[in-house]
Amino acid sequence: MKGIKDLLIEELYDIYSAEEQIVEALPKMVAASESPDLKKAFQSHLKETKGQVQRLKKIFKILKVEKKEKLCKAAKGLIQECKEVLKNSKTKSAIRDAALISKAQRIEHYEIAAYGTVRTFAKEIDLDTIVDLLQQTLDEEGNADKKLTEIAEGGLLKTGINQQANMPNEKSTKTNRSKTSTRTNKKSTSSKKLAAAR
Ligand code: FE
Ligand code: ZN
Ligand code: FE
Ligand code: FE
Repeated sequence: MKGIKDLLIEELYDIYSAEEQIVEALPKMVAASESPDLKKAFQSHLKETKGQVQRLKKIFKILKVEKKEKLCKAAKGLIQECKEVLKNSKTKSAIRDAALISKAQRIEHYEIAAYGTVRTFAKEIDLDTIVDLLQQTLDEEGNADKKLTEIAEGGLLKTGINQQANMPNEKSTKTNRSKTSTRTNKKSTSSKKLAAAR
């Protein structure tokens, strides 16, 4: 290992592999979701993730390096856990959606850690354009993670799971819920557009 730039490039290869694996995995998550909101969230993150792959290609171009084949083993393991959810329960349910969210958020957190680090590496050596590009992706990963939390908290856990667990509904904060549905509606509009574009 020569210096911080080499370390940055190594880590970008790893992230590139992770994103490619995620592009492959997300359509399965879309298909497996019972909640329409979750389906839309995965769908829109798939579109975003494809953009993130393009962003990384752009960064490799700026750095004047060929993208190298390197397998991100962490992403492989995290995606494997998503597949296990589907293997262990064959039918759609709110519980299975919650399990998928749980696994998907582990992926987002891995990406948040990875992009935060490479963004900081790039900042250290004043690669400003690259910092901006990485920050854009970092923001998208953060929003994807928040969105999944909103779906889990804003209905999914309050209806399906509580029913199945025979637990009384807790008093919910109305404001939070309406905020959630507003954001959800915004997202669903863009997902509809996405679907229409196909
Ligand atoms: Fe990503
Ligand atoms: Zn990795
Ligand atoms: Fe662990
Ligand atoms: Fe992501």
